[in-house]
Amino acid sequence: MTRKDDYYNRAKQEGYRSRAAYKLKQLNEEAGLISEGNTVVDLGAAPGGWLQVANELAGDSGTVVGVDLQRIKPIDGVETVRGDMTEDDTREEVVDMVREADQREASESGSGEERPASGEADAVVSDMAPNMTGEYSLDHARSVYLARMAFETSLELLAPGGDFVAKVFEGPDTDDLRADIDEEFEYVRTIHPKASRDSSSELFMVAKGRLTAPVREGDQLEVDIEDVGSEGDGIAKVEGYTLFVSGTEAGETVEVRVTDVKPRFGFAERVD
Ligand code: SAM
Repeated sequence: MTRKDDYYNRAKQEGYRSRAAYKLKQLNEEAGLISEGNTVVDLGAAPGGWLQVANELAGDSGTVVGVDLQRIKPIDGVETVRGDMTEDDTREEVVDMVREADQREASESGSGEERPASGEADAVVSDMAPNMTGEYSLDHARSVYLARMAFETSLELLAPGGDFVAKVFEGPDTDDLRADIDEEFEYVRTIHPKASRDSSSELFMVAKGRLTAPVREGDQLEVDIEDVGSEGDGIAKVEGYTLFVSGTEAGETVEVRVTDVKPRFGFAERVD
């Protein structure tokens, strides 16, 4: 039996709407993308295999929103939008829907906590694919365009530390896309899940840890050391973002170079 039949039959037996469901399962096993209670946005979600998997992983306390050009048959616990992700209107609708779903979740769970105006999602995943023409360079270019749309949407939706996945057909523009994604996340990997057909040129860009910090590795700037942390490093704030600077003392103003940027804090070394 070929692998294609394998996954196709498994999907039938296990009640998944598509064999693609196993790709998200494998991506999640490899990269740890979705956990209980998460808010997940799935772009290019029809017929809904990924939505089923995301819904299982996020559980009752999670929020799952799916978007597609095609109608998606209802799934319990999942909200859907029918629209074109290359259009501003659809992207705005998705951002609004995620925000509302999240607010509702917060009030139902009794936390009463008002979420910030943006950055609500823990994961944005895209399996969007263009209609294939069979002309390699055109199909590649269109898939990169869809992945870029997904990437831009993820920047609007993701909370600091959130993760992003996008399918792309390999080709000359893949490296540029990867480099652009890398700028906005802690790191990015490309994964070719087992459930993808051997003959397929598809791969998944998997980006971990959305960075919203106002600095990037290599930046040089002057900071005021406001305090000293428990590990003995000086603490500076840059637009509210915490930078740890070793070998400094509270009250000093120092020139530093940023050496490592994490979603919620970073490290720098003094250069003066
Ligand atoms: N992940 C899905 C699943 O597990 O069932 C399969 C997704 S299928 C490979 C790709 C989907 O991308 C198609 O349903 C297609 O309609 C959708 N798509 C392509 N271009 C799109 C666009 N511009 N906006 C929204 N969806 C799009």
